[in-house]
Amino acid sequence: MKNILIVLFSIFSLSTFGQQIVTVKLHSIVGYEDYESFAHMSIQKLKLVLNSEKFKQKVLTRKFTKTKGMSNQEIYDLIIKSHEVQGLGGYDNVVDLRIRTLTLEKDGEKWMKNCEPNSWAGTIGIDGQGDGVTAICPQRLKMWSEKNDYGSLAGHYAHEYMHILGFSHSGLNKRKSLVYKIGDIVEEVINEGL
Ligand SMILES: [Zn+2]
Repeated sequence: MKNILIVLFSIFSLSTFGQQIVTVKLHSIVGYEDYESFAHMSIQKLKLVLNSEKFKQKVLTRKFTKTKGMSNQEIYDLIIKSHEVQGLGGYDNVVDLRIRTLTLEKDGEKWMKNCEPNSWAGTIGIDGQGDGVTAICPQRLKMWSEKNDYGSLAGHYAHEYMHILGFSHSGLNKRKSLVYKIGDIVEEVINEGL
């Protein structure tokens, strides 16, 4: 009897207080060293954001460019469906993440220069150019971790994930693009509090 009540209560609370509609799975993490737990915390928050009503409302009401002609509702549904078009992907309704840090060995001197916080490029990370592995500049990772800035890291994952879903921000006014703005929304929701 007690177990039945617990099951019933779980079903009731899930349906009443917000269903989990999408989850986030971290498949690989390379080069993060001391910042692994910071990444895990940020990914946990990203999952809460994606399942939140706040995120949904912001996605449904913002204006985006470079949407490949999709409506806000179609974009929201696509994010929740989480069907990756780049890299190894995984199950639908699971945001499949593969993350690493940018390194001199793998990415070369140019990218390491672009990673410098005061560089003209101001690079935060790269999306893996099709391989589905998201790389972050080690300088940013350190900086954000020292400030417990989960919003920025989760926003970075969301930005790169939009590339993995097949969107780009090439051309002018990239900050108005869907890719940038989804990253901004994730950061915003975390900073406002879920
Ligand atoms: Zn980008």
